[in-house]
Amino acid sequence: MDKWKFETLAIHAGLEPDPSTGAVMTPIYQSSTFRQTTIGEHLGYEYGRTNNPTRSALEANLAALEGGARGLAFASGMAAVDCVLHLLEPGDAILAVSDLYGGTFRIFEQIFEKYGLKILYSQELPPVNLDLVPRLIWIETPTNPLLRLFDIQAISTWADTLDPRPIVCVDNTFATPYLQQPLMLGADLVLHSTTKYLGGHSDVVGGALVSRDDGLAEELAFIQNAVGAIPGPLDCFLVLRGIKTLAVRMDRHASNAALIAGFLENRGEVASVHYPTSTAHPQADLAARQMRSGGGMVSFLHAGGPAAARSFVESTRVFTLAESLGGVESLIEIPAAMTHASTLGSELAVDPALIRLSVGIEAIEDLLEDLRQAFQSS
Ligand SMILES: *Cc1c(COP(=O)(O)O)cnc(C)c1O
Repeated sequence: MDKWKFETLAIHAGLEPDPSTGAVMTPIYQSSTFRQTTIGEHLGYEYGRTNNPTRSALEANLAALEGGARGLAFASGMAAVDCVLHLLEPGDAILAVSDLYGGTFRIFEQIFEKYGLKILYSQELPPVNLDLVPRLIWIETPTNPLLRLFDIQAISTWADTLDPRPIVCVDNTFATPYLQQPLMLGADLVLHSTTKYLGGHSDVVGGALVSRDDGLAEELAFIQNAVGAIPGPLDCFLVLRGIKTLAVRMDRHASNAALIAGFLENRGEVASVHYPTSTAHPQADLAARQMRSGGGMVSFLHAGGPAAARSFVESTRVFTLAESLGGVESLIEIPAAMTHASTLGSELAVDPALIRLSVGIEAIEDLLEDLRQAFQSS
């Protein structure tokens, strides 16, 4: 199995035809408890919070896709973030990139800071100077919503020089393991909101962690079971089904997004465009090294300011005005007013004229035409 390529692993890793019926698709084991023949004697499953066969299949599949020792599935991406933060103790510091998913910023600031965690944000990683050794380094790359990149390999190598070595965690939601595999670049932990590209159809909320080594996975699995923010079997099934088409979807998301980035770069109404592999991106070299393609997210600054941006996002017909990302359908939003509202007034605040696109897999002609008519009618 180790020799299989990504596309094959996505469809087969962790999945066996059901031993009792031969069902090719992993069944939805909708059972909260499992029979013990004598006390402590069972087929590997006792209680549904601790594990469940549908969830185990998803967790094994995720581990294979990221090349990790073990995967863990959660009820949401935020539940996965919460699990990682439970590794820390009062007084520990987190060093995070300064362009972050709004919910991650919110859980740092409004939930965990009061338990004595110190959170530092840096524009540059490795940072220019460092006052204390963090216990956890938090990377998003590409970042949300500015699509900035961080060099996972360089940061992991730098982490090796610190004593004690911090845990390097990469939120890989935007890239997915098809485009970028952080554990292969030296990170310890990968996080996903499976709600996004892994699920891929905007029909499930879920999260995941994949750990490079068993020791850390063991600690996280303990927290997963002790805290209990686990996904139900139907949700696990939906994510597994989504993952099977991840590679073909990502190729189409990325080719559509690259064409849209090029289109936007030539519009007078647009002040700047953010897309990782665009020649205008200051880190296009790193994108080429670290990612298979630029992915499906594009953001741009409307030259007409916040009011024009607002009118624009209310004028599209194929792009739906909605939060979230990574589904087959195209979505549009204003991060400052929607996904990133919690960063308002903070050092992470986003320009209110910035528009974020989650480019779907519709026909590119229809997507371009929709943007064209929205510029004209807004
Ligand atoms: C959506 C998202 C999350 C949170 O995931 P939920 O499934 O919504 O809880 C975390 N990180 C990134 C980058 C996201 O886009």
